[in-house]
Parts: sequence; structure tokens; C-alpha cells
Amino acid sequence: MILPKSNRLTPAQLAEVTGIVAEFGCTIQPIIGALRTIYAIVGDERDDLMINRLEGLDYVERIDRIQSPFKLMDKRSDLASHRIRLGGVTLGEELFVIAGPCTIDPKNPNYFYESAAAVKEAGAQMIRGGVWKPRTNPYTFQGDTRSMDILLEGSRRTGLPVDTEVMEEAHIGVALEAGVTCLQVGARNALNYSLLRAIGRAVAGRETAVLLKRSIHMGPVNEFISAAEYIAAFGNPNILLCPRGTAPGLDGYRNHPDESITPLLKEKTWAPVVVDPSHSVGKAAYVPASALAAVAYGADGLCLEAHVSPSHGIGDDPKQALTPEGLAETIRQARALWRLRRGLTAG
Ligand code: PEP
Ligand code: MN
Repeated sequence: MILPKSNRLTPAQLAEVTGIVAEFGCTIQPIIGALRTIYAIVGDERDDLMINRLEGLDYVERIDRIQSPFKLMDKRSDLASHRIRLGGVTLGEELFVIAGPCTIDPKNPNYFYESAAAVKEAGAQMIRGGVWKPRTNPYTFQGDTRSMDILLEGSRRTGLPVDTEVMEEAHIGVALEAGVTCLQVGARNALNYSLLRAIGRAVAGRETAVLLKRSIHMGPVNEFISAAEYIAAFGNPNILLCPRGTAPGLDGYRNHPDESITPLLKEKTWAPVVVDPSHSVGKAAYVPASALAAVAYGADGLCLEAHVSPSHGIGDDPKQALTPEGLAETIRQARALWRLRRGLTAG
């Protein structure tokens, strides 16, 4: 990783470093951080001669040789000062809440519009809504591209940015073209490295954020952060890590709630953690307690399924979605706990 003395390298300086690393079979990938652009050396960057030549350039402050499988997402990286701003909130400065239906019903768009209005009213800063859906049962509703218009109309009506899951490469361009602010990578695709690469490539140079769910089958914490690195490596580090429960170990919860992973993530990465209690526990009645547990463990945000009339929803909504009242109360309590926790931490 090349850290320049100024905010970014001039074109001539970039050409010079690109030429040097090319001699050693490497390429340069600029990563735009909040304070300065840093330059990842892609390839085998262990050659001492290459490092010495780069360190000898008078416009280079230093070369970071973090020995980590996720050198951009690592807490020791220069990107640790990177701040992600979404829906008027700087992540880490205020509890960030994404909420909305699991699945947009293209036949009944008013449910989405009314849910979006309720989400705004409850104080969330971003609306979620599934256009394309990963369903365990192949005979159930799989989503519909036509829901993209409904999602964006919900955004226009409320003035809030939107999040939706992309399941395959073809979805990425459609979502970005439509104006989706946050691309969601679902639990089933969190280990799909070619999709992660395609997302990284597509969001590079944009303000777009990516909400990366933790896979149902992911093991070590490093595996999760490394998946984020696949995206960041292309130049856009606006990544939110989203624990959402792992393979079920308890009889009763849909998945095994994993909000307690948050402090472990925070020891290793600077990336904000936005926990999804809805998929963790899988039942609306358990969601508020799981949301508070996530905040108690240090989450920077929550992603909550909510619907104006859960029993009329599709996908996960009938069982998992909070009602508008439930959502408003959960957000109110979560914010109060977040402030309390910050006060305790600060004191
Ligand atoms: C969802 O957010 O509706 C969803 C399908 O999530 P996950 O990928 O976590 O199962
Ligand atoms: Mn869902």
C-alpha cells in the first residue's frame, strides 16, 4: 500500500509508480478514502527491491506492508479514518437504521409506499425492499425486476435512499442505473467471490455503499472481513458488515443470532457493523430484543424488516416484519440504548 505525502498522486507520479511495480509483475489500484487516496499494490508485493524503490520517491510518505489478508479493511489500514455517510448520517456518529419490507409485492405497490412512509416516520434513514429474492423453495415468488420502479418511487416519495439485494451480475447495473444507494449482498452470496468482484468493479468511483451479509455458513471472523476486502480492493470502501444469524443451532430461532460477533469484528476492522436481527431470529416477536442486544454489543446500525401490514406481505414479511408501531418503538429504544452505551463508553 503506497501512502502519498499529498492527498493524491499527480498523473505523472501515478505513471511513475505504475511503471515501477509493473517491472515486478504488479499493478496499482487507487482506493479513495475520506482524507486521501491510497494506492494498493496488486500482486506479490513482497519484493524488497520494489519496496525500496517506491520508498525512495520523494512524494511517497511510506509503504504500508500490513501482513493481513484484508489490508484495506484492516483496522491498522490508512482507511481506518474513512467515514461512510448515508441518509444524512455518518456511520458511527449516530445509530443508522435501514428498515422496510423483505420483499416488494409488484401487484400491490401501495403496501411498499405505505411501508416506506412508516419507515420514515419511525426515524429510519434508509429504506430496504427486495426486488430479487433468494428463496429456499424454488416454487415460491422469486422477485420481479418491475419492483425496481416501485422501490425508487418509494425513495422519491420519502426522500430516503434505498437498499436492495443483487443476486447476480446482471442485477448490479440495473440497480445502479435505477439509483439504488446501497447494494445488498445476501447471506447466500457472501462467499460468491465472482459476484463480490463484480460488485467491487461496478461501485468503484461511485458513492454507492454495499451491505454485506454474513454468510449462513461462514466460520472465522477473518472470512467475513476478507469477503469485504474483495469489494474494497476495486476502490470503493463504503462497506457495511451485516451479521444476520448463522446456521441454526437453537430450536426456535430461524438462525443462530450472531450479534455477539460485533466486538470481534471491531477488534480487526474499521468497517461499520449493521446487524440484521430480523433474519437472525426469524420471528417478529423476538426482533426487538435481538435489536437491543446488537446495540449493546456495539453495532453501528440495524437492518430491520418492517411492513405496514405484515400479514399481507410476501417473502419473510408475514412472520418476521415489525409493524409500524413495533418499528418505531424498537428504533426509539435502540437509539436510547445507543446513547447510553456511548455515554458509558465515553465515561
Ligand atoms: C433479506 O434481506 O431479505 C434476505 C434474504 O437476507 P439474507 O440474505 O440475510 O437471508
Ligand atoms: Mn427477508
